[in-house]
Amino acid sequence: MFALANKIAIVTGASSGIGRATAKLFAEEGAKVVVAARRQAELDALVAEIEEADGTAIALAGDVTKEACAKALVDLAIERFGGLDIAFNNVGAVGPMGPISDLSLKGWRETLDTNLTSAFLGAKYQVPAMVERGGGSLIFTSTFVGHTVGMPGMTSYAASKAGLIGLTQVLAAEYGPKGVRVNALVPGGTDTPSATFKTPESRAFVENLHALKRVAEPEEIARAALFLASDASSFTTGSALFADGGISITRT
Ligand code: NAP
Repeated sequence: MFALANKIAIVTGASSGIGRATAKLFAEEGAKVVVAARRQAELDALVAEIEEADGTAIALAGDVTKEACAKALVDLAIERFGGLDIAFNNVGAVGPMGPISDLSLKGWRETLDTNLTSAFLGAKYQVPAMVERGGGSLIFTSTFVGHTVGMPGMTSYAASKAGLIGLTQVLAAEYGPKGVRVNALVPGGTDTPSATFKTPESRAFVENLHALKRVAEPEEIARAALFLASDASSFTTGSALFADGGISITRT
């Protein structure tokens, strides 16, 4: 049910954290995976790991805020593997934090580009390729920030990630009739290189926000992405799936 045999997937933000763990899991489950991020060496190391475990992956280094990169990823999936079934648009960055009066327009625009425009560009090329196959699964990595929790100082991150929920709902309605499912994944705090909780004090603070009183390992979020990618979620579309350790419902 969760197997991805004969499926072809794109995973962005695959050089690190949640994307890396998800690319490995998708490959373990049998998908052929196009992995994307800007750092070539990290992607090469990931492809080597996947191949060592008898999986199949190919890397394309590039900036997913650029339209040419979004198109090239889909072209590569089609040319190398024959089509596209799954796209995990997972690239994201917190961007500049602080009171709104201190934030620059440049920082705002860069954060929206990284988190939201990249998703628009990805979907623009991924959806037609999926329709061509008779359907597929499109996934965007959102967050609790700006969806269920207001976190002071995270203006552009929250706005961009909340935008992904709207994008998810529209695309799910627009392409459901063509068999394309579209969902947002809503992780809680996850222990990755870009996590904002770097000191013992900030980590304890963030852990305590969750009902489970801990943060996630990237592999735990990858398993939620696998659910959305696989036929196990065949009737799930337009949703925001929480894999958030209960941060959205905790008040203590
Ligand atoms: P991460 O380890 O920093 O991974 C971010 C990935 O995005 C990296 O692979 C980075 O690779 C890539 N990336 C960034 N900008 C890019 C660009 N312009 N073009 C191509 N690749 C780009 O972060 P993570 O924690 O795994 O985050 C993954 C997603 O989960 C993000 O969308 C994040 O907002 C979301 N999320 C994270 C948490 C958390 O607590 N960690 C919680 C909720 C949601 P390169 O540097 O090589 O380009």
